[in-house]
Amino acid sequence: MFPSKFEYHAPGTIEAALALMEELGDDAKILAGGHSLLPMMKMRFATPQHLIDLNGIADLRGIDRDGDTIVIGAMTTENQIIASEVLANGCPLLPEAAGQIGDPQVRNRGTIGGDICHGDPANDQPAVTMAADATYVLLGPKGERTVHSSEFFLGSFYTVLEPDEIMTAIRIPAANGSTGSAYAKLKRKTGDWATAAAAVQLTLDGGTCSSIRIALTNVGPAAFRATAAEEALTGKQIDDALIDAAAEHVMSACDPAVDLRGDVEYKTHMAGEMTRRAIRQSLARAAGA
Ligand code: FAD
Repeated sequence: MFPSKFEYHAPGTIEAALALMEELGDDAKILAGGHSLLPMMKMRFATPQHLIDLNGIADLRGIDRDGDTIVIGAMTTENQIIASEVLANGCPLLPEAAGQIGDPQVRNRGTIGGDICHGDPANDQPAVTMAADATYVLLGPKGERTVHSSEFFLGSFYTVLEPDEIMTAIRIPAANGSTGSAYAKLKRKTGDWATAAAAVQLTLDGGTCSSIRIALTNVGPAAFRATAAEEALTGKQIDDALIDAAAEHVMSACDPAVDLRGDVEYKTHMAGEMTRRAIRQSLARAAGA
């Protein structure tokens, strides 16, 4: 099916993109990698009259370190995340997860900003960036604001992003030596979205877990932090019994939609299992195994 008619705009600067958004209002939509927006337009779920393509704005792409913070341009592709030395050293959770997104074509065009702004509970970057403690930078006519990843997602395809705002960057605190992370994703086949997935990043202090973030993909109306599970592990020497307890907390917080990937019971159970695996792998990595 063909999308309905639209006009295409290719601004060269962030300022020009913002001006277009102000001028065109609700009739316009931002185009990033197009791997979620274009299928929705072809199915006529989205019928924007104007597309504002951000691909020509170089300032929105790239991964840099600013002191203890890693700054990722919103238009950075999944493949650029996979290849980044800065992330390999400062936040390996992101390249690990990006390598599990879609297929080579999707990773070549799809952007981290688009993956987050789309608000799809099945997308991986929302939970992954939550586990990495990310803050999102949003720019609109009233200026710039920052929103923590844990407060960005309100429901399925529903976020705090205003229609006239652009996500410009994702800011992540660089991890130190005793930090370990992992993304455990169950999918039916290569290229599929998650049936259930868990992102974990934890820090050890002499064998004790001094901090941990656990976030889940596709087992609720939006990605979410499993705060009860985090509290059960913080300040403890994590053993198998505590990992099981954390998995139970995660399963109690799940509210997955039934679809071809499984029913509520199966998806909930798999979320618990992905959590166990991600915690165990994070522990091993933090301990340098
Ligand atoms: P687009 O499709 O261009 O835009 C998506 C939405 O975000 C639009 O509403 C757009 O207006 C808005 N938007 C984009 N960028 C910005 C910005 N900077 N500021 C404000 N709004 C913005 N994703 C996964 O996470 N995991 C998967 O396993 C996975 N598998 C896939 C398999 C297939 C076959 C396909 C086609 C897609 C898959 N995806 C998966 C989705 C893919 O990662 C998309 O690329 C992603 O969801 C959207 O990013 P995009 O850059 O393509 O954005």
